[in-house]
Amino acid sequence: MRFSAICEIFEQIASTSSTNQKVAIVTQFLRQTPIDEIPLVIQILTGTLFSQGAPLNIGYIILWKIARQVVGASENQLEQARQAHGDLGGAMAALFSQRKTRQATLFMVDPPSLNDLVNLYQRLTITGSRSTTRKKQWIAAFLDRLTAVEVKYFVRLLLGWLNIGLQTPLVLRAIAELTNVPEESVRRAVLKHPEVGEIARIAMTEGLNGLARIQIRPLIPVLPMLAMQTDTFEEALRDFGGTVAAEYKYDGIRLQLHQDGDRIEVFSRRLTQLTNQFPDLIASWKDITREKRCVVEGEVVGMLGGKITPFQVFMRRIRTYEIEATASDVPVSLFLFDVLFVGDEDVTRLTYRERYAILERMFKPSEHIRLATRIVSNDVKELQNFFEQAITAECEGIMLKDLKADYMPGTRGTRMLKYKKTLETLDLILVGAEYGEGRKSALFSRFFFAAWDETRTKFTTLGKVSTGLTDDDNQVLNDQIRPLIVQEEGRRVTVAPQLVCEVLADEILESPRFEAGYALRFARIVRIREDLSIDDADDIGKVKNLFTTQRSRKNYAQGKHEQE
Ligand code: AMP
Repeated sequence: MRFSAICEIFEQIASTSSTNQKVAIVTQFLRQTPIDEIPLVIQILTGTLFSQGAPLNIGYIILWKIARQVVGASENQLEQARQAHGDLGGAMAALFSQRKTRQATLFMVDPPSLNDLVNLYQRLTITGSRSTTRKKQWIAAFLDRLTAVEVKYFVRLLLGWLNIGLQTPLVLRAIAELTNVPEESVRRAVLKHPEVGEIARIAMTEGLNGLARIQIRPLIPVLPMLAMQTDTFEEALRDFGGTVAAEYKYDGIRLQLHQDGDRIEVFSRRLTQLTNQFPDLIASWKDITREKRCVVEGEVVGMLGGKITPFQVFMRRIRTYEIEATASDVPVSLFLFDVLFVGDEDVTRLTYRERYAILERMFKPSEHIRLATRIVSNDVKELQNFFEQAITAECEGIMLKDLKADYMPGTRGTRMLKYKKTLETLDLILVGAEYGEGRKSALFSRFFFAAWDETRTKFTTLGKVSTGLTDDDNQVLNDQIRPLIVQEEGRRVTVAPQLVCEVLADEILESPRFEAGYALRFARIVRIREDLSIDDADDIGKVKNLFTTQRSRKNYAQGKHEQE
């Protein structure tokens, strides 16, 4: 298939604001697509062709430089075009259509196909010295083969944001409509096997039965199971039948370690491959594993002098690509707490008690990889002491786990509960920012956040949040925001929805001022969640829940007060 065919569809999708119509366009397009091209087409439709798998490290800054060189534009011309067209893809397309000399080359080469994009992606995964220069050359040469509209979407694909209002849930809905399979079954299958294209292929060829047979497999990352919060140990003991497993809640990054023979890969919870960032963990697992094929899960933290480092120190290691330089500065430890696959078997249907027994036998603990500190208890006092011990050990709190529960990928439920020192926070999607005043007028210091609204299938805004970050971290956030700016209006900018931050509010208020119907009172950013993708962020349902629990707590406190 030619790339231009899919760009035409992108233009159609962008031209309607109706989600039903967007789904109908995608359904119709998939219906006409040959089955062997479906997985690739879906990767492109979900905008993930260049952003899943090995990271390319081609960001906005690099693309900006390539753009200037390819279209021969000055910094000012490009900036003006960006402001006029909203984003770099749109700006480059406009400048391209004004360029006449390209026409000569256009007629000499074949129009690019989807396979040409895949080949380019494979070439762009090279690493090592001078790799950035070579990548720039390949991208520039590829751009030269494209028409203006192809340029727009190629650049957006490289940046991982198509900006046409087509989120993955809409593509899943289109797959369900196309194959006459319940949408819920498609969604569940994606949780175990997040390659949406492959799920579409299975739904088309094997229908509902094929989807039901989908299993976790080593080297294909899985969406992890998430926890709800509890405020009392009594509640957990009651819900879990009198006895719970309690573990330290380490404050690092959740990792899945996948082993298939000699091949070992690690993935973040947003399914990014982090294998290159953790050579020491890979080497350690090779030494200590007793298995040939498995998927285990744990939390990785930085360790200095036998103590867990603060989260921000550890994040510096994740941010940097020159890992050898920092590996010795910040050594890491992985604390394992679950197993999802072992031998030939997806073990997520087993109880947590059974899975843990397997996990204990799977490896010989080392300095780098060991089990999370854990007790099994039926006693509130013992749990309270364990919690205090966890806090002293630089942990965020403890996790309370139901020994009888199976593992449900990608769902936030009550199979495990978190008990934290702090008030509950929200993981929200950054969609805008505002410059500060006075000394800080060159820096963004207020931020606008949104959450996904399932019923409206869109992001809805929730109000303004000030930074609670240190100056260094605020600078990091500013640097991450700049390349994502899609529009500027006075002191305010709109940002492509790609960043997630953890936000703490004193109170959630009902408010008609914001789209979501809620505002956050005295809210501040607690940390940048680089380990989360926008799909991991909390949705409006969670905001509503927090609002309701906060109200019932208030009523309870008021009632108590009145009784006294
Ligand atoms: P939260 O991110 O606040 O929803 O808390 C759940 C997260 O705690 C998980 O996604 C893990 O990244 C992290 N975590 C740390 N220690 C553990 C543990 N022992 N068991 C499960 N999750 C843990």
